[in-house]
Amino acid sequence: MDFLQPTSWGDALAAKAERPEALPIAGGTDVMVELNFDVRRPAALLDLTRVPELAGWAVADGRVRLGAGVTYTRLIDELGGLLPGLAMAARTVGSPQIRNRGTVGGNLGAASPAGDCHPPLLAARAEVEVASVRGSRTIPAADFFTGVKRNALAADELIAAVLIPAAAGPQQFSKIGTRNAMVIAVASFCISLDPRAKTVGTGIGSAAPTPRRATDAERFLSAALDEAGLWQSRAGLPAGLVREFGEQVAAAADPVDDVRGTAAYRRHGLAVMARRTLTWAWNSYQDSASPGHSAPWGHPRPRWPGTPRGG
Ligand SMILES: Cc1cc2nc3c(=O)[nH]c(=O)nc-3n(C[C@H](O)[C@H](O)[C@H](O)COP(=O)(O)OP(=O)(O)OC[C@H]3O[C@@H](n4cnc5c(N)ncnc54)[C@H](O)[C@@H]3O)c2cc1C
Repeated sequence: MDFLQPTSWGDALAAKAERPEALPIAGGTDVMVELNFDVRRPAALLDLTRVPELAGWAVADGRVRLGAGVTYTRLIDELGGLLPGLAMAARTVGSPQIRNRGTVGGNLGAASPAGDCHPPLLAARAEVEVASVRGSRTIPAADFFTGVKRNALAADELIAAVLIPAAAGPQQFSKIGTRNAMVIAVASFCISLDPRAKTVGTGIGSAAPTPRRATDAERFLSAALDEAGLWQSRAGLPAGLVREFGEQVAAAADPVDDVRGTAAYRRHGLAVMARRTLTWAWNSYQDSASPGHSAPWGHPRPRWPGTPRGG
């Protein structure tokens, strides 16, 4: 097996153009598992860890350009304020060792329906920036996932970065697993509220062949909040509205029965997570109106559902 180790983005793209069969490797937390279990035996590995252009992030025009090689640990440490939903999801990934190595680019490259980055990226309307020697293009996250563990990358393309709007309101992420850490999601959900644009974003994980948005639920909730003047009043959410949102999120899923859970359990869990995350997000929105509130969205940590308010 050849081992290609470019030290610049230009060299990485040239290597991928010359050897499209070369398998990119970033943190290796998916790739090395596949090699060790003989699931893959690529002719070449394309190591991206020495490409400095992938390792940084910057903010421009209200969006974070997150290099594909930024690890979960850095995301959590550096971007919890700007990207609270993604940072919350990152905190649930694997263990400290996995978070020190694993990257958002690698999560997208693997394109697992259960990847924890995907629901927050969908909810935030992120775009994936990909490039080849032919040029670069951006793909909406909702179009990036094309099937189970399949994505929209051409054979000569690499993921350069993810373009994620900085949070304009509260975001919440929730994940069901069979234990609290080191667990693949049985189902997951992310919500993003944008009170200025009066829009709602959602992302469903591990409950369909690809991660997906619950678009009907988004439209329902944003319209209902608007019609009732709730964006302005920040009054408590009617219980019926929260319940209906949960049902619509569950209806958007297309889950399967597998070793981790049944389709029925996943649908039920999604409805519960949608209700809870909406309630937590709304609590943050209400709190943000109180005097002295200056924390970025997503902080302080939401009240746990034992102390519910607003639906
Ligand atoms: C013990 C353990 C626990 C885990 N827990 C979780 C979890 O809780 N949640 C979760 O979502 N995942 C989990 N994972 C899976 C894995 O850690 C994540 O998917 C991680 O984001 C992969 O990132 P990486 O940088 O290690 O990717 P790699 O393994 O290096 O690559 C993954 C895929 O992406 C491709 N790739 C990487 N970078 C690029 C690029 N720039 N352009 C194009 N393709 C690229 C690779 O070719 C490969 O197909 C776990 C894995 C292990 C081993």
